Amino acid sequence: MSEAIPIPDAWRFCPRCGDDSRLTGQQPFQCQNSDCGYKHYFSPKTATGALIVDSSGRMLFIVRGREPSKGKLGLPGGFVDAGESAEESLVREVEEELNLVVLEYQYLASFPNEYAFSGVVTPVTDLFYVARVETLDGIKAQPGEIDGWKFLQVEDVSTADLAFETHGLALKAFMALSDDETN
Ligand SMILES: [Zn+2]
Repeated sequence: MSEAIPIPDAWRFCPRCGDDSRLTGQQPFQCQNSDCGYKHYFSPKTATGALIVDSSGRMLFIVRGREPSKGKLGLPGGFVDAGESAEESLVREVEEELNLVVLEYQYLASFPNEYAFSGVVTPVTDLFYVARVETLDGIKAQPGEIDGWKFLQVEDVSTADLAFETHGLALKAFMALSDDETN
């Protein structure tokens, strides 16, 4: 498969009037048909990630079952749907991916990311939350999406094992928070 291209390069025609764009690759997209003039900003999608620790302080990671980065570790989470809050998305994704019920969450940090899907790379804003779940018993991996899960000490996780750099940044932010609390 050919390499994924940035989303402004994938917009060849105006989605409003069908005009063949002479300016593909520009940000924002601006239709050159003067009767239309449609403008589109390739603003990021929103995604969430949950940092969930067990009673011995180990972090819960999913093993990705899909490209991009199939087989690598990630934090549970996913894209926010239209009409949904980031927090609702967080709770829904953790339930779908791992069959766990989130009781509480605390906003941690956000980082800019990119996601390659269907041959197109889209900018993403990843929002991370420290989450507490009802119980860690009964974890079930969502078939097709998740190949399994692992509880790991954050210090033992190498960034090379992670699907996304932003998840590494979230782990760093989490460790900085834990250091603050113990000092
Ligand atoms: Zn147009």
